[in-house]
Order: sequence, then C-alpha cells, then structure tokens
Amino acid sequence: MKSFLAGLHLQRDNPTFLMAQYRALSSQIPVLYVLLVINALAVAITHIGTAPQWLALYIPVSLSIICLFRLCWWELQGKRVTDPATVYVIMRRTTVLAVVLSFAFGAWAVALYRYGDAYQQGQIAYFLVVTGTSCIFCLMHLPMAAIATTAVCFSTMVATFMFSGNAVFVATATSVIFLSVPFVRVINSYFQNFSGLVHLAEELKKKQAEAEELNVVNSTNALHDQLTGLANRRSFFVELQAMLAERPEEPPIVGLIDLDGFKPVNDLFGHSAGDHVLKETAARFLHLVGEDGLVARLGGDEFGLILPRGLERRQVADLGIALCSAVREPYDIPGGSVRVSGSCGIVYPEKRRHTAEELYEKADFALYQVKSKRNGSVEFFSPDHEKILSQRHVIELELQANDFGKELSLEYQPVVDLSSGRVVAFEALARWDSARLGRISPDAFIPAAERTAMIGKMTRILFAQALEALAVMPAQLRLSFNLSARDVCDHETSMALIAMVSRAGVDPHRIEFEITETALLSDFDTAYDVIGVLRAAGISIALDDFGTGYSSLSHIHRLEFDKLKIDKGFVMKFDREPRCVSITRSVASLCQNLGIAAVAEGVESAEIAEALRRMGVQLAQGYHFSRPLPLGEAIAFAAGRDRTAIGRRSLRA
Ligand code: C2E
Ligand code: CA
Ligand code: CA
Repeated sequence: MKSFLAGLHLQRDNPTFLMAQYRALSSQIPVLYVLLVINALAVAITHIGTAPQWLALYIPVSLSIICLFRLCWWELQGKRVTDPATVYVIMRRTTVLAVVLSFAFGAWAVALYRYGDAYQQGQIAYFLVVTGTSCIFCLMHLPMAAIATTAVCFSTMVATFMFSGNAVFVATATSVIFLSVPFVRVINSYFQNFSGLVHLAEELKKKQAEAEELNVVNSTNALHDQLTGLANRRSFFVELQAMLAERPEEPPIVGLIDLDGFKPVNDLFGHSAGDHVLKETAARFLHLVGEDGLVARLGGDEFGLILPRGLERRQVADLGIALCSAVREPYDIPGGSVRVSGSCGIVYPEKRRHTAEELYEKADFALYQVKSKRNGSVEFFSPDHEKILSQRHVIELELQANDFGKELSLEYQPVVDLSSGRVVAFEALARWDSARLGRISPDAFIPAAERTAMIGKMTRILFAQALEALAVMPAQLRLSFNLSARDVCDHETSMALIAMVSRAGVDPHRIEFEITETALLSDFDTAYDVIGVLRAAGISIALDDFGTGYSSLSHIHRLEFDKLKIDKGFVMKFDREPRCVSITRSVASLCQNLGIAAVAEGVESAEIAEALRRMGVQLAQGYHFSRPLPLGEAIAFAAGRDRTAIGRRSLRA
C-alpha cells in the first residue's frame, strides 16, 4: 500500500514527467467542471420546491460558480503554464481542491436526499456514483486526487444508502463497496501505463536527439577533415563541381599545395608533431586565403585551393608564393621546432568548359613539375604542360585500346666490372614501338601503365622476354629487371614472377630486381613482405636511383639490399659538381661498409669510370661502355669485352 501510494505522489524531481502529467490533466479538467456543473444543476432543478431554497438553489449555484471560475482559469491560464515548479504547486492545489469539492458536492447531495421522493433519491445515487465516477476518470492523470475523490464520493454514497432501509439502495451501496477496490486498481494501472508511455516517449525523444546529433556529426565529418577542420577532398570536389555548374564558361582557379619534408617530421618526431604541422599549416593557409577562396585538405600533406575567377594571374602567383613562404616558417613542436617546405601547382584556366577532374589533373601536373625541381615554389599549368598531358592521355588510351604486348621488347645495357672491364650483367630496359605512335620512352609509358593499372600485365610480358633472354645468355651473366612501385606492392605480381622463374628453369640467383624508394614509400609493409618473398626465392634486390628520393638509411638497413645503384643524375655531373662527387664517394663507402656492391649508372666518359673505380665503386653502366642494345648485340658486346680483358691480361702477363 505504501509503495502504491508512493508511486502516486507528484514527482517533483522529474520535471519532464510532471509536465506530461500536467498537460494531460489540463485537457481533462475543464470537461470535469462542465460535467459537474451540468449534473449538479440537474439535481438542483428537480429539488427546487421540495428542498429549502438555500439547499436546492444557493449552494449548487455557488458551487457551480466556483467550478465555472476554475474552468475559466484552466482555459485561460492553466493550460499555458510551462514552469515545472508552478505546475507542481498547481497540481497540489488541484488535489486539495478535488477533495474539498467532492466533499462539498457529496455533502450537498446527501443533505438533499431526505427531501426527495424515491425518484429524486435515485437521481442523487446516480449523481454520487456516475458523476463521481466521471470526475474520477477526468482526474486519472492526478491519481492522488482521483483516489481521494473516489474515497469521498463512494464513502458518502455508501454511508447514505447503506442505512436508507431501501433494499435497492442497500444492494447498490454494497456493490459500490466491492467496486471500489478494482476501481482503485484501474486508477493505479492506468497511471502506471501513462508513466510508462511518458518514459517511452522521453526515451524516443532522447534517441531521436542523439540520432540527429549523430547525423550532424556525420555530415560534418563527411565534408570536413577531422584533423584540421578544413573542407575535405569530397567537399573540395563538390564545391568545385557546384562552381562549374553555376558558371560553366568561367571555371575557378584551382591550386594544389604539397608539403615537402613532411614525412620525416612524422617519422622522426612522431605523429602528434606531424598532426601539429598539418593543423598549423591549415591555419596559416586560412589566414592567407581568407574569405575569398576555399582551402581543403585533400589527404596526407596535400592541400587544395579554389579561388574566385576574378583574381588576376599576378595576384594568384603572389598568393601561391605567400602560401609556400608560410609553410617555410618554423613550426613549434614540444622540445623544439621543425621546418618543412611546400610546392604549389596552379591552374589558371581559360574561359571555357572544364570538368572538376580536368582542373584537378592540371593543377596536379603543375605541382608534379614544380616538385621535381625541388625548389619549393609555385608553377602555373602552361601550354607546354598541356602538350605533355595530352600526350599522356594518348598513351593511356593506346595502352588500353591496343594489344600492346606484341609491341613491347627489351634492350639490354651492359653492367661492367670496373676493375676487370668485363660485362657481368645486363639491365633489361623496356621498349615500346607503337604502330600508331612510334617509339615511346619508358619514362612515359611505364607511369601511364601504372596509372591505368596495366603495369602488372606489362611486367609479366616483359619478364617473360627477360627469362627467354637469360636462357640464351652465357651462364655467368646476370640480368637486372626493373620493377615498378606498383609491382612491389602487389603480392599477386610477385608470386607470378617467382612462378615464371621456376617454370622457365632459370637459376633465380642470376636475376636481380631493381626497385625504387617510391615503392617503399607508398606501402612499406607490403613492399617489405614482397621483397622478403622474392629474396627467399633466391632473387637479389637492388635499390635503384639511390640519392634521388628519400634515401633513407633505415630502408637500406631494414631491407638488406644486395646492391645500391647510384643515380645517373650524380654520376653525369661528376666533372661539374664537386657535391655529386662527394655524394657518390659517400655512397661507395657506405656500400663498402655494408659489404654490398655499388653500381654507378650514367657513366658517359672514361675519366668518370676511372674516378669511380678509384672511389671503390665496383660496377658501372652507361653510354661510355654501351647504350642499351638488342639481345644479340648485347651478348656480342659482352663477348667482345671478355676478349679484350683476356687480351689485356695476357699482355700484362
Ligand atoms: P633506370 O632504371 O634508371 O634506367 C636507366 C636509364 O638510363 C635508361 O633509360 C637508360 O637507357 C638510361 N641510361 C643508361 N646509361 C646512360 C647514360 O650513360 N647516359 C644517359 N643519359 N642515360 C643513360 P630508359 O631505358 O629510357 O629507361 C628509363 C626508365 O624507365 C628506367 O630508369 C626505369 O625506371 C624505367 N624502366 C625501363 N624499363 C623498365 C621496365 O622494364 N620496367 C619498369 N618498371 N621500369 C622500366
Ligand atoms: Ca633501373
Ligand atoms: Ca636508375
């Protein structure tokens, strides 16, 4: 009983529930008063003349005036109250008033009872039970008031009729006694259901709010880079497309900025330092670009710019320079500061229709050009770039349209042992003689094959030729074969190559794969695994173009290369740039210390070959010895060098 009553108390500490209760109650209370007034007046009217006037008229009219007054208050004010504290007070007052009014109307009805005949007494019984019950139903959302009203109405009715001496009334009073228990139960369970519903509605509202919040977060995440808060790649393209759709003939200016030297910051100082650099860069860019354009982080350390068409070319160049200078300013990180630089590629498009992808590709191409110069500056997409880019497209199309396999071949550049002068190996270099485009440089078609995902197929075709060549070469000669970055990051290609070696019956120790550091940078873990598998199969691995890329000692250490190939860029400038001589000397001594061979590429003169030999470089290749040759000529060249070496030896003997 105690807990039952406790459950019916007003929940002052639960304002949401209190308000829900009040809202439901305030819609029922006016009905209650209307019912009460109509029924009371009906009873009063039938008793005018039979009961004293004060009882038949004044009291019911006074009570009805009170009721109507309350009705007006609820209609005009009560329904508008929104403050839970006031609501609490009103509901308490309503409970008290319910008891007072039930008592007043009950006492009035009982007082009238003795003045009426049997019909009028029946009407009073009806008034007490039916009107009482109706009022109780109207008070269901305020269970204390409902139960108090039940108690007052029913007990008044029972007390009056039980001792009336009329069998019908006694029977009615008895059934009302039995009715009261289930009645209270109904009030209770109705209220509990109501609480459950309010609770459920609350939960639903909360869930809905959470879902809406999540939606907002998701849509923010979908369009913003979480680290820097800048627009992300997706919204960069959405914005670009929207601008192009709005004014197709006036494409906006698009720029790309890529940080140089960002990766070492990440590697050496940790990701939080890297994150700080990116965030700070974003802030510097936003400050410089201001409201005029959009700055986005397109991924990694690449940022995108969209600038309004109205800017002059000169202004755009100045902005590009300012952005690159801003990147060069030091970045404070815990325990010191770091420096990076940035390169910027910009397309200032002609006034004609462009797609977003076209603009991006052009800016990217300009960026690639400026990055290859390594001076951290700004470059605009130019008509020359346009020419190269369209050639690139032609090559890509040709690669996809044609059965290029038949047009591919290899040439072999001899690798010479500098101390003996003999050829010890060849480097296989791809050639493509396109029926439509003529001879295309591997520097053009290899990247095109990488972009169009044809490289795996191309590598297999070329490697099959290399294996055939090995079979006809003298057994002491080895063959170097270039793998593209994509091949090195692809388990499928590497497995296929190993299978091809074993099918061809060639000794895998005669094969060397040349890979560049680009391959390691894109996906080191996969490259590491692939290299391990290839080495386990007996194939050796050389690091190509050493000195041009990242040239990380940790790569050399972790991957245990069998050879380092010193890039021809250094070797060819030997006689002009002392710096190149020092770098080559350092690499040679690094290889000596590691116990691996160094190969110098691009040796174009006897002097350079001799200088390299004195530095301790064992192997060399270059136009001084031979250009890349067709297989037959390459084998003949090796035999010729052998004969010369033998001749020299016998002369010395
Ligand atoms: P690489 O691996 O660095 O190859 C050396 C390049 O330098 C070759 O150009 C070669 O002809 C050239 N070269 C050799 N000696 C000299 C010299 O004394 N002076 C000068 N100026 N150049 C010299 P090539 O054949 O045009 O190849 C260019 C690049 O294409 C190669 O650079 C390599 O990265 C790629 N490549 C060539 N064949 C293949 C291949 O079969 N697969 C893959 N993935 N890449 C290949
Ligand atoms: Ca090579
Ligand atoms: Ca090379």
